[in-house]
Amino acid sequence: MENLNSNDVFCEKKCKTCGETFEIKVGEKKFYDDHGFELPNRCKACRDKRKAKSSEKKSQDK
Ligand SMILES: [Zn+2]
Repeated sequence: MENLNSNDVFCEKKCKTCGETFEIKVGEKKFYDDHGFELPNRCKACRDKRKAKSSEKKSQDK
């Protein structure tokens, strides 16, 4: 095994939404690999915003 710490930066990506550069940690990369997910195209802040928005919408729906 490579001597990688899960808190090390695996790579940097540019957020699709705000254009900010954000880091993918080794631990996150492993999480996405384990679940067969693609690496995210948005920074955490934008993902959280989207999440908050969709749950807000849900609570408003009757
Ligand atoms: Zn962003």
